[in-house]
Order: sequence, then C-alpha cells, then structure tokens
Amino acid sequence: MKHLAAHLPWPKVKALADANVWALLPVGSTEAHGPHLPLNVDVVIAQAVCARISDALETVEFPPVAYSLTDFAAPFSGTVSVPADTAKAMLVAVLRGIGRAGFRRVCVVNHHLEPAHFKVVHAAAAEAESPALRVVVPDHRRKPTGPLLGHEFMHGGSHAGAYETSLMMATAPQLVDDASRRALPSLSVDLPGAIKAGATNFLEAGGPEAYFGAPAEASVAEGERLLGIITEATLAAMNGG
Ligand SMILES: [Zn+2]
Repeated sequence: MKHLAAHLPWPKVKALADANVWALLPVGSTEAHGPHLPLNVDVVIAQAVCARISDALETVEFPPVAYSLTDFAAPFSGTVSVPADTAKAMLVAVLRGIGRAGFRRVCVVNHHLEPAHFKVVHAAAAEAESPALRVVVPDHRRKPTGPLLGHEFMHGGSHAGAYETSLMMATAPQLVDDASRRALPSLSVDLPGAIKAGATNFLEAGGPEAYFGAPAEASVAEGERLLGIITEATLAAMNGG
C-alpha cells in the first residue's frame, strides 16, 4: 500500500512513522536522454519502482530528489548538473530529515546510474545512517541483478537505450516519442569502457545525441520484465538480502 508523503498532513505521516512503515526516497536526475525521451527519465523510473514496491509493502514515498551530479549529459540542453559535494549534502540532509520525522528505515531508490552520482548516493547514505535510522541503497548494477537486465545494460547501453526506453514504455508511454525512437540507429558503445578510457561526457564517449544502445529494440514487454527484476532486487535489499 502506497502513501505519498507530499499529499499527507503531518499527523498522518507521524502515525505511519510510529508504525515503523518504510520510507522510500526516489532519486533521479534532470538530464538529456536521447532525442526520444524526456529529461526526467530517471525520476519516472525510480517512482515506478517505488510504486511496485508499494504493491508488496506498506510504504511512505517522499517527493523525489530530481537534481544531482550529471556531468556526462552536461553538453546537452536541459541537463542541470549539481556539484558532487552539493548533491551529497542535499541527500544527507533529506535522509536526516526523514529520520527526524520518526522513520526508522528508508530505502533510497536511485535510477540515475552515472558512476560518480551513484558513489554520491552510497556516501550520503553511509553518512546519514545512525543507530536510529537504517538507510538501504539497493544497487541493481551489481550481481546477481545486473546481468539479468541484459547485455546492453551491462555493456554500455544503460543510457536511453533499449533498457531505459523499455522501462519508460512500460511505465510512462505518453512521455516516449515513439516515431523518433523507432528511427534511431543502434549505437553499441561500451560506455563503462569509454569512461575508463577517459571520456568525460556523452559526446566524447561517442553518443552525439545523448543515447546509447538500441532504443528501436525497446518494448513494453521488456520494460515489464525489467521492472519485475528491479522490484524483486529492491525488495530483497530492503529485507537484508
Ligand atoms: Zn537515465
């Protein structure tokens, strides 16, 4: 069962905190995702995962953190990048604020996968954690979940390719420009490899339109499959697995 913190008066939030209900904090970014997807893909996916978790558990979903470090998409219009220190301080403050509201466990549902940003999320969670507040950060890039999300996900196309486009088609199809998606040629770039080789943005990594992988191969069915796997992995992390 899902409660949206933003829609509740404080006494109801307090009652849910007192009942030791899980707090969820969706985290994404505001950044270019190819010519076929909107800037808020990571937030939409994070909130979709929160909704699925809430089908299995009673939760209170807090408003998302929608701005963070997004250096790789920085050359493209609409991308808003926040310095790592600022992004981390913001996340720590938000997590501590949720703790001060009385919640004793919070799950950070992050779907902005830029390595430097995910590092910020893990560091902020470690800093915000205390004996009174447990902070869980599921990381679906890791084994055993990562490989289940497909070859493209593991080898460079986790930005606006078949992976994210499928998730968007399954959760927010009205935000996908389908004609544009179908016309995009597959761009098989090893994004992690390019990063290791020194690329500092998507242009340098060989993605002139801010997408990688194969958006044309995306489908609703694949999006549903991915959402199921990510939800299972997130629930397992919340259960200590
Ligand atoms: Zn994304």
